Amino acid sequence: MCGLRNGDTLLRCFFITLGCAKNEVDTDRMRALLQIAGVGECESVEDADFVIINTCSFLEVATRESIEATLELAQNDANDVRSKPIIMCGCVPSRYGMELIDELPEVAAFVKADEEDEIVSVVSKVLDVNLISMQTVETNTLRTVEGVSAYVKISDGCDRYCSFCAIPYIRGRYHSRDALSICQEVHALVADGVREIVLIGQDTGVWGNDLPEGHDLAWLLRKVAQEVRPYGGWVRVLYLQPEGMTDRLVDAMRSIPEVLPYIDIPIQHCNERVLRSMNRKGSAKEYRELFDRLKSEIPGLVLRTTGLVGFPGETDEESEELLDFVQAVGFDYTSVFAYSQEDGTAAAKMDEQIDEQTKVERAQRLIDVTEQLGFDSTASHVGEIVDVLIDGMEATDTGYELIGHTWFQAPDSDGAVHIESGEACVGDKVRCKLTDSFCYELVGEMLGNA
Ligand code: SF4
Repeated sequence: MCGLRNGDTLLRCFFITLGCAKNEVDTDRMRALLQIAGVGECESVEDADFVIINTCSFLEVATRESIEATLELAQNDANDVRSKPIIMCGCVPSRYGMELIDELPEVAAFVKADEEDEIVSVVSKVLDVNLISMQTVETNTLRTVEGVSAYVKISDGCDRYCSFCAIPYIRGRYHSRDALSICQEVHALVADGVREIVLIGQDTGVWGNDLPEGHDLAWLLRKVAQEVRPYGGWVRVLYLQPEGMTDRLVDAMRSIPEVLPYIDIPIQHCNERVLRSMNRKGSAKEYRELFDRLKSEIPGLVLRTTGLVGFPGETDEESEELLDFVQAVGFDYTSVFAYSQEDGTAAAKMDEQIDEQTKVERAQRLIDVTEQLGFDSTASHVGEIVDVLIDGMEATDTGYELIGHTWFQAPDSDGAVHIESGEACVGDKVRCKLTDSFCYELVGEMLGNA
């Protein structure tokens, strides 16, 4: 029996994915493996034979959200939802392991992030069916992406052990994915209509360090660019740590036309004392020099960063220092986090934890400043003529508009371009004049095909 229920009906799974883009990729891979085994997907939980919930545990609030979503399913009396077996995957099982079996009897099986390739046999066991698991080179790179942008994971885990972060305990030591499988996946994606490849990992800049071939991210970018070039595609890299910005990488970003001049580089803080306490390198002076160098060497560079406030022992002055720093650098986009005391991390045991109210106030101050920076940066593009990759279409009061994004707008994180008139298909690249902006959004007037 292959993916069949009662001998004749296809088994159907309802997926819930929480957390970041890396989790989206992991869900996509499980979806692909199950599809090959003959398991279908359904859009509503009522139609499903079982549910896969791919969880996030990066922060305590994310863990809580993952568990609440699971319990909500298990306690849902409507249409027999509570009877559907739930398989919990990803970061929550990776972080809490066997503890969960007693804590969450509602869950039929737990699958850690590094065990997700076994999803077909887990489903077989849970549903008592005999699905055939096929893992070949093709299935290792199989994806089910529908949009024009696709995340591609180039590594997992992290060796940096920032004192506030649970990722190394959840995802393990840093391990690069081999170049061949990355390129095969990229090749399949662009051949299937994807026009933007977004390379992700917890720490993309050190890709290759643990592989015997001796290659680095700059080398990988050239390989990936070769795959997307025949299709006029773009390559974007996210999550580069400051120390990962080598001369070779800067040169690759500047000289490979497909690689977008967009750098996402989380600094978390700029104060040297706070950075050391976070077990991170750098200082305001070093970071300032780095960003000045990047801006001078990569024309038109757009910068995204992450700031973390309320770390144990952070003073008001140190928090203000971060605020002044992001203003001085002029980041185009900034994600702001208030420190969260995470079980098992070094920072959770530190004295001088900051009270919640102060953390919220500091985060809000930083958000206010960075939002204005972001709005100003977006507005600064008004008047430019740019290529816009069409993502889809949205209904408006007067009809519809095309929605797309440019090289300086990362999918899912930054704003979009709204085109009120003209015709184009999803995946087309059109030439637009940017005529107006609101918050992070831009209005474009279509001039023709790019
Ligand atoms: S580099 Fe990022 S993923 Fe790695 S430990 Fe630090 S915050 Fe966590």
